[in-house]
Amino acid sequence: MHTLPEKPDAVEETLDPQDWDELRALSHRIVDEAIDYVSGVRERPVWRNMPAAVRETLVAPLPKTGKPLAEIYASVVENVLGYPMGNIHPRFWAWYMGAGNFTGALGEFLAAVQGSNVGGGNHAAALMDQQVVNWCKEMLGFPASASGSLVSGGSVANILGLTVARNAKAGVDLRERGVAALKQPLCFYGSDQIHSCHRKGVEVLGLGNEALRRISTDSELRIDVAALRRAIEDDRASGRLPVCIIANAGTVNTGAIDDLQALADLAAEQHLWLHVDGCIGALLKLAPENRWRVAGIEKADSIALDPHKWLHAPFEAGCVLVRDAATHRGTFAVTPEYLESSTRGLASAPWLFDYGLQTSRGFRALKIWMALMEHGVEKFGRLIDQNIAQGHYLSDLIEAEPLLELVAPTNINIVCFRFRPKGVETDELKAINIEIMLQLQDEGTAMISDTTVHGEHCLRVAVNNHRTRREDLKLFVEEVVRLGCAIARA
Ligand SMILES: *Cc1c(COP(=O)(O)O)cnc(C)c1O
Repeated sequence: MHTLPEKPDAVEETLDPQDWDELRALSHRIVDEAIDYVSGVRERPVWRNMPAAVRETLVAPLPKTGKPLAEIYASVVENVLGYPMGNIHPRFWAWYMGAGNFTGALGEFLAAVQGSNVGGGNHAAALMDQQVVNWCKEMLGFPASASGSLVSGGSVANILGLTVARNAKAGVDLRERGVAALKQPLCFYGSDQIHSCHRKGVEVLGLGNEALRRISTDSELRIDVAALRRAIEDDRASGRLPVCIIANAGTVNTGAIDDLQALADLAAEQHLWLHVDGCIGALLKLAPENRWRVAGIEKADSIALDPHKWLHAPFEAGCVLVRDAATHRGTFAVTPEYLESSTRGLASAPWLFDYGLQTSRGFRALKIWMALMEHGVEKFGRLIDQNIAQGHYLSDLIEAEPLLELVAPTNINIVCFRFRPKGVETDELKAINIEIMLQLQDEGTAMISDTTVHGEHCLRVAVNNHRTRREDLKLFVEEVVRLGCAIARA
């Protein structure tokens, strides 16, 4: 048996500070400066490239001994906070991100201060985690009897949904026997606009990329339901087993929303699982002017949504919901001898790790909960409507500008367009437009991304940002035209 040294002067070590008052003073300063950082974000460039000296600090060797926290904080301010990705800036519109919120940051801080592991158990953080899941169900019109889990993001939420779908529809005991026992190859269906996480999903599920059938889309980039029906029938006729339709409620490329009612009907008729990738669009349910776009989403068997997008929770926060809680739990629950429940005390409440892959889970709920309590869900709905109105405003500015053209119809808050002066060959357009995008980054004016829609390269603006104002979009259009003219002339 090990014993502690008996010398009376031997003091155990701890990570706690020797002087709490010194820590208190520094912590107050950190909070003050954090508020300046966020309130002043508009005055700074969206993004800047890191100089070599900064990069060097980020490849420094493992520290063998420590140094004062104040010094470390100074380095974080200089080398880390000074070079952000930029997504909290009002003119960040690349890919599809949330802009964060300070209350959410306080929630992250307090969650870490409490330090609870939300793998489950009888404590407040675990109850709040379930409360936030219940609120997500309510936001989407899902039944109270459904289950769900907060996860790292939409990718994991989607993969969990696909896993439940696979196990529910495979016709063999996949948990016990694995994919080798499948008598027929399984098929999942999504449009050719589907997010890349679904490919990763079918791959890690052991089904292979081939199992994900990409169905063509119409001029609005929505899945062609007649083509989908034919693909399902063809697969059945050739001995495959169709299991799941993955509906897009907001595609990454253009924000297209599949006809969810039609897909729900088709899934019911064909006895397929309906999973909705609602990472972008599920929360449209909150938006009075736009919720009609996702009518029918509540008919899904499972839904992935992303609180770190339109609820602006600081990264990370995703959520999966499953209509049939028993099927959800049946996909993941395992109770080892060291995690048995008790009738009283801390282990007397359900384990939340039975609804996903993680055993230890962070206290993600608090940052979402605090922001919802502070603003109320109606305000989040108005902010979603506001972003969509801004998307259409930008789209109108582009249509009014002879040097710019839309490349895809603007549906919600995603605008695909390009700079196209007369007399420039189509094959030169891509290089010019990429250069416009890169110069906007270098100047720190705005952050956008690019994509290719039905074969046409374009610049892409996704206004998922509660700090954006119309004047930002106006400035953006002026800058694109100015840079485009300079680049095309050069
Ligand atoms: C963002 C997104 C995902 C992936 O979600 P993450 O939170 O980035 O993991 C999946 N599908 C769609 C449609 C998305 O927009």
